[in-house]
Amino acid sequence: MAIQLMPDDLANKIAAGEVVERPASVVKELVENSIDAGSTVIKVAVQEAGLTEIKIVDNGDGMEPDDVERAFFRHATSKIRNEHDLFHVRTLGFRGEALASIAAVSQLEIKTSTGENAGVKLVMEGGSIKERGKCDARKGTEMTVRHLFFNTPARLKYMKTIHTELGHVSEVINRLSLAHPEIRFELTHNDKPMFQSSGRGDMLQIAAQIYGNSVAKKMVKASHETLDYKLEVFAAKPEINRASRQYVSFIVNGRYIRNPVLAKAVMQAYHTLLPIGRFPLAVITIEMDPVLVDVNVHPAKLEVRFSKEKELFDAVEQLVSKALRQQRLIPEAVAPKQKKIQEKSEQQSFTFFESKPDKEPEAEPEQEQWFFDKVKETVPPMIEERQPEPEIFTESTPDTVQEFEYVATEKETEPEYAVPAMYPIGQHHGTYILAENEEGLFLIDQHAAQERIKYEYYREKIGEVEKELQELLIPLTFDFTQQESLIVEQHKTELEAVGLFFESFGGHTYIVRSHPQWFPKGFEEEIIREIVEQVMQESKVDIRKLREEAAIMMSCKRSIKANHHLNYDDMFHLLEELRTSQDPFTCPHGRPIIIRFTSYELEKLFKRVQ
Ligand code: ADP
Ligand code: MG
Repeated sequence: MAIQLMPDDLANKIAAGEVVERPASVVKELVENSIDAGSTVIKVAVQEAGLTEIKIVDNGDGMEPDDVERAFFRHATSKIRNEHDLFHVRTLGFRGEALASIAAVSQLEIKTSTGENAGVKLVMEGGSIKERGKCDARKGTEMTVRHLFFNTPARLKYMKTIHTELGHVSEVINRLSLAHPEIRFELTHNDKPMFQSSGRGDMLQIAAQIYGNSVAKKMVKASHETLDYKLEVFAAKPEINRASRQYVSFIVNGRYIRNPVLAKAVMQAYHTLLPIGRFPLAVITIEMDPVLVDVNVHPAKLEVRFSKEKELFDAVEQLVSKALRQQRLIPEAVAPKQKKIQEKSEQQSFTFFESKPDKEPEAEPEQEQWFFDKVKETVPPMIEERQPEPEIFTESTPDTVQEFEYVATEKETEPEYAVPAMYPIGQHHGTYILAENEEGLFLIDQHAAQERIKYEYYREKIGEVEKELQELLIPLTFDFTQQESLIVEQHKTELEAVGLFFESFGGHTYIVRSHPQWFPKGFEEEIIREIVEQVMQESKVDIRKLREEAAIMMSCKRSIKANHHLNYDDMFHLLEELRTSQDPFTCPHGRPIIIRFTSYELEKLFKRVQ
């Protein structure tokens, strides 16, 4: 077959396959353009989850009349001019593909003006211009995309339910608003309001809109600046945790990104504070010189590459740790009625709509119930039924924006000890200590408490790693698999550097005659196996992690078990030791140690108050 150049409209249609996957991708590209144009208010209105219509109205710079057609050419951009610019991009877009691609697979109308003269209106279909005219001179751009994929039926077939597509759209708006708290975003679906941010730069107000008020109230803030990075985190206290990893958001230079390495740094900061299999909720904002980050490595620019990743990893971990450790982390017991609602909300976990059940259940129990009823329908629930606002732009905050009261935790920061003095009043089933103080009644899991105390003790002790080796009376023998023995051979130098000498004993059998002094007694074999496993998985030995594992093993084995009666002095001393430990709230496996009943909660339980 003869080789030919494709006609432009075909090339654009093909390119659209990559950029425009679903209505949410159109929303993302168009809103990013509005952000790049310096808008302070961006309104997004979708019909049928964007499948029939997507309308984006911004108050940005607009386009010059002579530029409008050009914006729809492939590789047409005003954002970069040369290779140098590519490595210094501060804008979200720079490839010049989005408008060409979206126009190729939809019926599109644009009205745009720089605010100086009359604006331009363009009507397009499948990428070709059908009409050109004038429009009013309101500064900004209005894009209407109708009947997406009308000319690519195969793609249309892949669209999921309205519910799923709308979930993706709202996810996009959630992310963009987290990345730009200084911009006021509005999202409506079938003319009903779904999301609104204030545009006042208040991250907690946005978190409250996305995750619910009760979650936002439990987020703590910390910030830090290094030579290369400016970091800010909003981290939820560990009692707010989720079953999946996707609740940790990273914003790099105003761009929402995914990054498994940084996510690991956050997990590490929460380590031993969360139950196994549960994940944290946090927003981490990072500002840096664009030279230090390559944003051109992913089609939707969701992934980036950092040039000083390790340094950034450490900075993120330390800052999240700092945010968490300056807080009191005792979960509070709640009256049964509320509890039921909270448990129910755990089951309702999917993207945006997950947020609603987290909203203050105690304030509006009826509304909660209303929500659960609604969720069963195929069309997602709206926050409230409201009349759509007329399309005008005001810089002031409309009163419809949910006011979020930021409960300052400042008076709680850097407490003398994280837990107030508690006085034992008894023991339940030889397992839980009951204690009290002016802040309420406390239940303490005695085994978990001692595990925490011992864990911190051993962690400290094991921390002082000495070089000396301890000879074993009876050498340990290891029968490895072929793969394991290959790894052991391959990493001999690293292993010897940490004091482990594997002697080959024929086949895949090895002998170990000594081990470093710091190995916990009775756990030598377990620790050595752990080291081999680490080397297999990560090709290196992480001494810090090993010490943690060792401390956890020792603390668990050596702690008082349940069903063990303690006298008053034992209880008092245990509580004092717990109180002065670094993380008194969860055991090393992340289970809670203390539960508090406030006096108010007790009064509610006994119906002394409403
Ligand atoms: P890119 O964003 O990569 O430059 P696009 O195809 O998304 O490519 O947009 C092409 C150009 O159209 C942009 O570079 C910008 O100059 C202009 N443009 C698009 N949307 C808007 C908008 N909402 N306001 C002002 N200019 C816009
Ligand atoms: Mg763009």
